[in-house]
Amino acid sequence: MTHGRRCAVRLGNRAWVDQAACRDEDPEMFFRVDGERPESWHARLAEAKDVCMVCEVRATCLEDALAKPEKHGVFGGLDEEERKLELKRRARLAAA
Ligand code: SF4
Repeated sequence: MTHGRRCAVRLGNRAWVDQAACRDEDPEMFFRVDGERPESWHARLAEAKDVCMVCEVRATCLEDALAKPEKHGVFGGLDEEERKLELKRRARLAAA
């Protein structure tokens, strides 16, 4: 199991986690380290997103992360700020 102790891959007993593309990746790739320089994080973030983009369970992972919601890390190909925006977008659609 990978993607760190906070990872969807580690947290659940869901069937879909066995199909996660990140299961053999370094967990550190998906989470920003406190005090890390932006350029370092952005490089890892791009790598993490590349893994997510080929993941068969990306949509399921994203929905899971949005539902919790996960506050940190990359899930479903989105970082925490992008997930916040997605939740706001959905709220606006629901209110329309
Ligand atoms: S979408 Fe990304 S974070 Fe989610 S299971 Fe797939 S590779 Fe891991």
